[in-house]
Amino acid sequence: MLERQTKDMINIDPLQTGGKLTEEARRALIEWGDGYSVCDFCTGRLDEIKTPPIYEFVHKTLPDFIGCDVARITTGAREAKFAVMHALAKRDAWIVMDSNAHYSSYISAERAGLNVAEVPNTGYPDFIITPEKFAEVLEETKRKGEVVLALITYPDGNYGNLPDVKRIAKICQDYDVPLLVNAAYAIGRMPIKLKEIGADFIVGSGHKSMASSGPIGILGMRGEWEEIVLKKSSRFKNKEIELLGCTARGPSIMTMIASFQHVRDRVKRWGDEVKKARYFSSKMEEMGIIQLGEKPHNHDLMFFQAENLYEISKTAKDGRYFLYKELKKRRIHGIKPGLTRFFKLSVYGLTYEEVETVLEAFREIIKENIR
Ligand SMILES: *Cc1c(COP(=O)(O)O)cnc(C)c1O
Repeated sequence: MLERQTKDMINIDPLQTGGKLTEEARRALIEWGDGYSVCDFCTGRLDEIKTPPIYEFVHKTLPDFIGCDVARITTGAREAKFAVMHALAKRDAWIVMDSNAHYSSYISAERAGLNVAEVPNTGYPDFIITPEKFAEVLEETKRKGEVVLALITYPDGNYGNLPDVKRIAKICQDYDVPLLVNAAYAIGRMPIKLKEIGADFIVGSGHKSMASSGPIGILGMRGEWEEIVLKKSSRFKNKEIELLGCTARGPSIMTMIASFQHVRDRVKRWGDEVKKARYFSSKMEEMGIIQLGEKPHNHDLMFFQAENLYEISKTAKDGRYFLYKELKKRRIHGIKPGLTRFFKLSVYGLTYEEVETVLEAFREIIKENIR
């Protein structure tokens, strides 16, 4: 039996807090675990399968949920970004993206053969991407060549900052550049709708934020992009080229569907999650651990600077691994082994009792180890 060490621990890894399966999804995972299980009644395209109800989910539930005209399932957020970039790419063309972007945004651009222009953030301690800077870089890059796409990370995966995406969308419109909103940390956690933002594309990650086993992502767009991004093969008339004909064909889509009711409900409780994150942040700061990024914070993903833990690590028996080990001893998982000075975490979905357990752990660790 392959056992997972961390199964029953309190998990504060931002990467994992929104991807934990619901009971419904756990059952779906077993039920649909066989290879190609969802293809029993496929007539040629994943999103058109009526039994199980994938058609309903992709063409009605999802567009309604994320406020777009057209939606598709992809194998992950990165595959969704790559599909858009590849469809819009031209020789020597550019993509403008925020410097808080995820590595997979850069790699997708690289694979699509696009030049990348970065919008710098405001630096320490807030690291904010401002609409003004976004406009500036768009302006500069337009002078260098054709800008086929802009990308904004909302929120970013480092600081959990939520840039002013509506204003950025307006700016992109003014420059006539389509905008992709990378909402890997938003869709499934917080309310977000493409049309309300005024952007062209939106991307989500099922295993990160939609209680799905994955790998699975979602791609939403305005209707006007359908023919370009979802262009069909000349040879296989119903297969969409950028999706390589088919994507998440198995338990990943079934867990997403199984969890959806829960996901839709939890998004409505987003305000409570932000309140909890702010509470946690304020208690950490009382211990001398400073939260970087936007303050007060607007997302569950938080980035901390802990000079006191860093000092302890210099003389601790386990060196920089001491924090990881101390937390592990207290059945808390999610801060990367070896980090003490800068780390991110999330208390998304935790009960207040669990939040107190985590806070008490930090208090104890500081008290017991400080000299
Ligand atoms: C996690 C993450 C991704 C990658 O998502 P996948 O679905 O695993 O491809 C992309 N962008 C951001 C901002 C992320 O945090």
